[in-house]
Amino acid sequence: LPSNVSAAFSAAARNIVGDAFVRDDPESLEAYGADALKRGRPADLVILPGSTREIASVVALCQSHKVPFLARGGGTGYTGGAVPVRGGVVLSLERLNQILEIDPINLLARVQPNVVTGDLQRAVEREGLFYPPDPASLAHCVIGGNVAENAGGPRAFKYGTTRRYVLGLEAVLPTGEVVRTGSKAVKNVVGYDLTHLLIGSEGTLAILTEITLRLIPKPQARVALRALFGGVRPAVAAVTAFIRAGVVPAAIELVDEESLAALAGYLGRPLAPPGTGAALIIEVDGSPETVASECHLVEACCRTAGAHEIVRAADESDRTSLWEVRRELSASLRFISPIKLNNDVVVPRGRVPELFDLVDRLRTTGPFRIACFGHAGDGNIHVNILVDPTAPEGLRAAEQAVRTLFEGVVALEGSISGEHGIGISKAPYLAIELSSDEIALMKRIKTAFDPQGLLNPGKIFPEDP
Ligand SMILES: Cc1cc2nc3c(=O)[nH]c(=O)nc-3n(C[C@H](O)[C@H](O)[C@H](O)COP(=O)(O)OP(=O)(O)OC[C@H]3O[C@@H](n4cnc5c(N)ncnc54)[C@H](O)[C@@H]3O)c2cc1C
Repeated sequence: LPSNVSAAFSAAARNIVGDAFVRDDPESLEAYGADALKRGRPADLVILPGSTREIASVVALCQSHKVPFLARGGGTGYTGGAVPVRGGVVLSLERLNQILEIDPINLLARVQPNVVTGDLQRAVEREGLFYPPDPASLAHCVIGGNVAENAGGPRAFKYGTTRRYVLGLEAVLPTGEVVRTGSKAVKNVVGYDLTHLLIGSEGTLAILTEITLRLIPKPQARVALRALFGGVRPAVAAVTAFIRAGVVPAAIELVDEESLAALAGYLGRPLAPPGTGAALIIEVDGSPETVASECHLVEACCRTAGAHEIVRAADESDRTSLWEVRRELSASLRFISPIKLNNDVVVPRGRVPELFDLVDRLRTTGPFRIACFGHAGDGNIHVNILVDPTAPEGLRAAEQAVRTLFEGVVALEGSISGEHGIGISKAPYLAIELSSDEIALMKRIKTAFDPQGLLNPGKIFPEDP
């Protein structure tokens, strides 16, 4: 592919950020051109800016040379959002990794975009505060990427996704201006809500350079437990029962039989006795009294629904290992099959059993396996289609199964993506969920921000030239 970047452009970029922070060696161009989708295209130039001012200058340079550009956070995105599909510049924000402020009076934190999510959580918890969004990638993804994707995680059922915690942003627009949206106040209704327009915009509307986040007090107590069932349906029945009984756990994760088998193979030890068809990992938090009574209710509902084993994490280290096992799921599935079509579909919680009926039907349509796990509380189930790389017809059948799955979840009043966004991998399916009027409006918004279409082109909208 021809490079978009001239020697003059390169020299001007080095002038802005300094020689040490421009990379053009083949290894860097390759490494910064892919994300967790594992489909990439090398960048033409990688730039590591050190400040908002430098970002704005690089953006102005890209505009004057008509060079495409995009921002890169932790590079853990699952849909190719950080892949420079049209070449150009990858602006890696890795030098902007400072927590600028933790304010226990106003319950907020101000951070640079590339603060690692898990690091922020630990830092605020040391102050008795809590930042709930907990994507399973939290050891590697960063707050800027989380805001761009509106990331969720197990705790989204009780606490909501990243969106709920963003009070304000500083952003460099694709046209080079620096804007500040929102404020430190929890209430702000002045003008259009640009903060919430930028959240979840998948790096296509602006580059986020500073983020003000709302925090909440850290729950006093939390207990995690694991319940094993004969299949997914009794597990889902247990969830329905304890939610109807008024318990809102911090997290309710469902892991099906295929996923349990993959985990056991990857970790090299059995995780559940034979006959186990599903596991629930449930975490309850709040005051010690609430936690004790809610745990009791949850266990009773699981038992009534048919759980054959219920284990409470005895202490914090037990709890941590329970969650570590959950976070190994993606790696375990990739261990069985390098071709994993990961679909983070979501349906209203009451329709989760119908989603599993649909998955059972899909299992009969091709030579692939399907492993499901996910957030049972909010109906966000990751349906992973595992293709045997030695059977090429499996991939075609799997791609057809993805389309049928997406049509099915929309018919179930759900959505084709609850967490990972559209990027490049789901762009061909956008029209399954959105009407042509909605897509046209979104494109007009994109053009209003980015008239030349240079910021992260080729994402979300399939038919862009
Ligand atoms: C093992 C694993 C588990 C995962 N689990 C979850 C999960 O539980 N929940 C979930 O929601 N997701 C999950 N993901 C997906 C991914 O981690 C999230 O989408 C995450 O928010 C991406 O953050 P990142 O920093 O890696 O962003 P990147 O991959 O670097 O970028 C993602 C997108 O955001 C844009 N972007 C990044 N930084 C900025 C910025 N400063 N300004 C503007 N745009 C920016 C990029 O241009 C790109 O379009 C998982 C991924 C993996 C590999």
